[in-house]
Amino acid sequence: MTKLFGGIEAGGTKFICGIGTSAGEILAETRISTTSPDETLANCVDFFEEQRLIFGNISAIGIASFGPLDPRLASAKYGHILSTPKESWSNANVILPFQEAFDVPVGFDTDVNGAALGEWRWGAAQELDNFIYLTIGTGIGGGAMVNGKLLHGLLHPEMGHIPISMRSESIPNFAIKPGSKPSISSDKKDALKKPFGSPISVCPFHDDCFEGLASGPAIEKRWGLKAEVLDAEHPAWEAEASLIARALQSFICTFSPQRIVLGGGVMEQSQLFPLIRQKTLEELNGYIQLPPIDEYIVPVALEGKAGILGAFLLAERAIIS
Ligand code: ADP
Ligand code: ZN
Repeated sequence: MTKLFGGIEAGGTKFICGIGTSAGEILAETRISTTSPDETLANCVDFFEEQRLIFGNISAIGIASFGPLDPRLASAKYGHILSTPKESWSNANVILPFQEAFDVPVGFDTDVNGAALGEWRWGAAQELDNFIYLTIGTGIGGGAMVNGKLLHGLLHPEMGHIPISMRSESIPNFAIKPGSKPSISSDKKDALKKPFGSPISVCPFHDDCFEGLASGPAIEKRWGLKAEVLDAEHPAWEAEASLIARALQSFICTFSPQRIVLGGGVMEQSQLFPLIRQKTLEELNGYIQLPPIDEYIVPVALEGKAGILGAFLLAERAIIS
């Protein structure tokens, strides 16, 4: 008999809860506002209680969550959100209410690893053992499958916080003579502070990270308008594509992905894809031979459904593990 799974895509503004199968059917779905952990998680438990009366018992639950979080099964903090600016959620145990209410295995991973899993089974990364999934929206996050497994590690990757090169506009590209005092001319110092013309980073931790410079809020801060209202010819997209391409160069060189899947609100701007592909090739400068670039850097295939579908797969994997 087909097993039923509960899935949750847990975000900072909403929790999407669903009932589905590992065949990718979504039988029921609801949206719950993110308030306090106690209230939000109790509302999710109530939803699954109701659905259980209609569809029958759930075999496992999978949660693909905002972070930072602890996805390591052997850790005492497994299932917890770690320190987050969303104060009341710091140290929240997200899995316990479901373990108590339903006594089933609960899979838990990052929202981006969940979405990566969904894209792997049904979407843009089918049959690949090594790929990355990036979302470029309110924040920037990345999930990675490495040798067929979702990558964790110390905790999980934080691909949005890699520094983005500001290149020779700001970094002297000459060798300093031994014994002489290095100096950067004042116009170069200004350039150092102004990637793409304005001193902006929306990341509270870094001046020059990918999320700080290229997330939706960063576009809005730089250009003074919400990203979704900028027209396709706006110079914002050229700059955005350059920043993304610089990040992709780093990811290609470190993860050696067989494909890169790009999603999130900002990537709704389909004119970004050709720009990013071309600029990524320029960044790599011929050093790494890629597959045809149109098949290498691709949009998501599951639209908004990768998260919830991936959560069902996290549930399925929680039974196996
Ligand atoms: P979240 O990251 O909060 O889950 P999204 O992926 O939709 O949600 O990202 C929201 C961000 O993406 C906002 O900064 C918004 O300005 C931007 N955004 C949303 N839709 C578009 C669009 N069509 N074009 C460009 N930017 C968009
Ligand atoms: Zn940062």
